[in-house]
Amino acid sequence: MENIIIIGTGCAGFTAAIYTGRANLNPLILAGNQPGGQLTTTTEVENFPGFPEGIMGPDLMMNMQTQAEKFGARIEYAFVKEVKKAPAGHFEIITDDGTVREARAVIVATGASPRHLGLPNEKSLIGHGLTSCATCDGAFYRNVPVAVVGGGDSACEEAGFLTKFASTVYLIHRRDTLRASKIMADRALANPKIKPIWDSTIIEYLTDDKGEVRAAKLQNLVTKEESELELKCVFVAIGHVPNGQFLGELVDTDENGYILQTNGTRTKTEGLFAAGDVADHVYRQAITAAGQGCAAALEAERYLASVGVH
Ligand code: NAP
Repeated sequence: MENIIIIGTGCAGFTAAIYTGRANLNPLILAGNQPGGQLTTTTEVENFPGFPEGIMGPDLMMNMQTQAEKFGARIEYAFVKEVKKAPAGHFEIITDDGTVREARAVIVATGASPRHLGLPNEKSLIGHGLTSCATCDGAFYRNVPVAVVGGGDSACEEAGFLTKFASTVYLIHRRDTLRASKIMADRALANPKIKPIWDSTIIEYLTDDKGEVRAAKLQNLVTKEESELELKCVFVAIGHVPNGQFLGELVDTDENGYILQTNGTRTKTEGLFAAGDVADHVYRQAITAAGQGCAAALEAERYLASVGVH
C-alpha cells in the first residue's frame, strides 16, 4: 500500500510530489497521456516567479520533475481509469491496463484538456491539419496560411508563435474584442502577420483528396454570411475541459466538470485532494496550480498523520 498517490504531472502534481517527498512520504506519481502537463505544449513562460528572463515551458517541467525525484518521488506512466474508496478507508486506483494500486491518500492533479469546436469530422482530422498545440505542430506549416481559433491568452500566444513559420496567421474569434490580457492582445494585434477575423466561427473543415485540411468554411455570426478561407492548419485555442471524470461520485463538480474543493484542496471524500486546473477555472496559471499542489501536499500530510502515517 502506498502512502500517497499523486495523479498528474503538471505544475500541481510535481509540486505536491516535491512537498510530500520532502515529508518522507515516498510519493508515487502516475503520469497520464501528457506527461508534464500543459506547459510542455507552450513556449516561453514569462510570468513564473524566479525566472526574470523567462523559461521554456518544457524546461520548467523537467526541472520540477528532477526536483521531485531528488526527494524520492517515483513516476509511473499509467492512465487512471477509476478511483474507488475501499470499505477499509484506503483508495484503489485502477489504470487502463487493469492494474490496481492502493494508497492511503490521493492527490488529483490531472489538469484540463483542450476543448474542440464539436464539428462532425473533427476527431479524424487531428494531426491532419487540426491541432491544439502550436509548439508541437507549428514547424510543420512553413510559408503557408494557418488559423488560430479563440480570443484568449492561449490564442494570442499561439498566433504569435506561429508567425515564425506561417505566411499568414488568421485569428478567428467569435466576438469583435479579444478576451486576452492587454499585453498579449496588443502584441498579437500589432503583429503584421496576424490577421484577425472578427465575429466569426468555423462551421466546417474542408479537406483535400489526401484527407488533409485545405480550407475552413466560416460563418460571420453577425451577418450570417458564409465564406471559405484557404489554409493548411487550424490551431484551436478555445479553452479546456477538466480531467476529473474518472472520479465518479467521489467528488462533486460544478456544471463544467471542475472539482469542487471544500476547505482548501479537500474534496467531499476524506483523504482525496484536488489541486490545479482540474479544480480551478478561475486563475488557471502555472503558479496557482503549483500553489495548490503545495497546499494539497500539506493537507494530505496532516490527513495521513491523523490516520497514523508519519
Ligand atoms: P480562455 O481565456 O477561456 O479563452 C478561451 C477563448 O476561446 C475565448 O476567447 C472564448 O471566446 C473562445 N471560445 C470558447 N469556446 C468557444 C467556442 N465554442 N467557439 C469559439 N470560440 C470559443 O482560455 P485560454 O486562452 O486557454 O486561457 C486560459 C487561462 O490560461 C487564462 O487564465 C489565461 O490568462 C491563461 N494563460 C496565460 C498565458 C500567459 O500569461 N502566458 C498563456 C496562455 C493562457 P469568448 O472570449 O467569446 O468567451
